[in-house]
Amino acid sequence: MNPIYIDQKEILKHYKQPDKYTHKGIQGHAIIIGGSYGKIGAVTLSSKACLKTGCGLVTVFIPKCGYDILQISIPEVMVVTDNQEKFISNITFDIKPQAIGIGPGLGLEIETQQAVYKFLKINKTSLVIDADALNILSKNKEWLPLLLPKTIITPHPKELERLIGKWNSEEEKIDKAITFSKQYHLIIVMKGAPTRIIDEDTIYENTTGNAALATAGSGDVLTGMITSLLAQSYEPISAAILGVYLHGLTADIALPETGYQSFIASDIITNIGKAYL
Ligand code: AMP
Ligand code: MG
Repeated sequence: MNPIYIDQKEILKHYKQPDKYTHKGIQGHAIIIGGSYGKIGAVTLSSKACLKTGCGLVTVFIPKCGYDILQISIPEVMVVTDNQEKFISNITFDIKPQAIGIGPGLGLEIETQQAVYKFLKINKTSLVIDADALNILSKNKEWLPLLLPKTIITPHPKELERLIGKWNSEEEKIDKAITFSKQYHLIIVMKGAPTRIIDEDTIYENTTGNAALATAGSGDVLTGMITSLLAQSYEPISAAILGVYLHGLTADIALPETGYQSFIASDIITNIGKAYL
């Protein structure tokens, strides 16, 4: 099956110009759920990327140990904490976001796994699932039917393998991903070089990005970006397409300045504005 290439022409089919009369209340409210002791950086990167991709309000849900870190490093983000100090044990908040991103830095504590299960059982909000939230689903595949149709999952190759099993060729990987996408009606962002997006029978292939993106926190930033676009009422497939394209473009823009070696995930965030221009 031939892919649809995610290039500037394709992007213009999805991108909406911001409304001159908008205000933060209608630019979307996103929640990023994640973090555990020693991995608060992942949720910090993700929530900052979420804000910088244009949604009006961002709240993070984290264990208590991340409270000061988040409040000091990103004053624009609101913070709600779990009762536990070092990991998430019970996901509750009394706000109604338009989109939720879950997974960066989450960890795999048994109590966190149960919290994810309870959350998925009642969640009705558009969702991006990444990192340890995907690893939790891989350990508990019987929970996959809880996911709403058009939930976006963003596995890197190892996370994908845990979900769909091993493959022997690129064709087999794509076939297995299509089967999985159809079974659970999911949008799969298969991260890599190139990143492909599988939406049941449709395959998209990204044309932006370079090896500088192979750096710690790069995927956490992508999760924040896609969640932000979902919160701004983009359709899930458009949010995935735009997010992947913009994420790659930041690395193409930054490369002449940083080179491959010194590009870090924060450089993606710094360059989101230029990618939009
Ligand atoms: P993660 O492994 O979750 O941090 O995600 C890594 C991110 O960097 C994904 O968006 C990948 O598509 C991207 N990435 C990693 N390596 C490369 C590469 N060699 N070329 C382009 N993009 C890459
Ligand atoms: Mg990752």
